[in-house]
Amino acid sequence: MPKPMLNKPAKSVANLAISWQQQLTQAITDPEALLLALKLKAEDFSDYSAARQTFGLKVPLAYISKMQAGNPRDPLLLQVLTQAQEMVTSAGYAKDPVADLDASKTPGLLHKYHGRVLLITTAACAVHCRYCFRRHFPYQTQQAGRDQWLQSINYIRQDNSIKEVILSGGDPLMLSDEKLDVLITQLEAIPHISRLRIHSRLPVVLPDRITDRLVQRLASSRFNVCMVIHANHASEITETEIKALKKLQLAGIQLLNQAVLLNGINQQVNEQIDLSENLYNAGVLPYYLHLLDPVQGAAHFDVKLDRALSLIKQMRSKLPGFLVPKLVREIAGEAGKIPANEL
Ligand SMILES: *Cc1c(COP(=O)(O)O)cnc(C)c1O
Ligand code: SF4
Repeated sequence: MPKPMLNKPAKSVANLAISWQQQLTQAITDPEALLLALKLKAEDFSDYSAARQTFGLKVPLAYISKMQAGNPRDPLLLQVLTQAQEMVTSAGYAKDPVADLDASKTPGLLHKYHGRVLLITTAACAVHCRYCFRRHFPYQTQQAGRDQWLQSINYIRQDNSIKEVILSGGDPLMLSDEKLDVLITQLEAIPHISRLRIHSRLPVVLPDRITDRLVQRLASSRFNVCMVIHANHASEITETEIKALKKLQLAGIQLLNQAVLLNGINQQVNEQIDLSENLYNAGVLPYYLHLLDPVQGAAHFDVKLDRALSLIKQMRSKLPGFLVPKLVREIAGEAGKIPANEL
């Protein structure tokens, strides 16, 4: 393996003076192009073409610009590069590990937990994270088109125990500002809903998605709006992301982060501490640290439970309590995410 040329960001590949939609069309989908942008060689990796067939590679240049050129172990690269290990079949790993399909009440609506429903607003994401628990999700049947939103909205209207709507996907911020406005306006007309939550990785992988129009729409909503972003590593949060997140914070939007604990990416205590501190600098509190969902093709990312528990314990000894995320696992059929110390 060649010696990594450290401290040389791949910034030159990004041209950020264009709209977020244009940046999406320029996202890299070819593993060879990604390696080329990072001055890496195919020989540094085992075969990555087979994994593309099940779940394609996709990564925006804005995210690549935060990777270190010449480093085949870059923690951002390893989250997105298709790898041969994904083709390994592992016992105990499933295609729908959290049984989302059982919780689907109308196409695109999951009602698993009391008081809150999750809307799958789109199948699309700006980035394809290799460990994603929805990597095999049958979005064709679960994707809510605009008329299917109507079914979901009727479902929500008829159940006044629902207080909160979570926009998820895919990534809900892949929808245009116009479409989001239509959806939010429909939800605002349901009196028993008071909270709107948006689960998105876009503030981290495509920060230009945080348009002034989006910020204004969320700020003017009658809802208490919360955005749960998804950053796994401190180097995902740079000045650019901080700027975008600060706009949301100034608009009164509560910002939280969820991360997935990933072998080879963020399982070291110093990595988790740096992540929490960087998030806080951007106005974001750590919310969940998820143990990997056992999805087929992601077993190589797994961190064992006892290791994860000891990681949290070490974080607790070094950080204020509000910077220690809750370590959780999702278990099919349970009423909420399960704290790891109760597993
Ligand atoms: C994770 C999840 C939620 C939200 O759970 P919180 O513990 O409130 O963050 C809601 N619905 C579904 C289907 C989920 O998977
Ligand atoms: S952004 Fe979220 S839903 Fe999309 S691939 Fe990554 S983890 Fe999965």
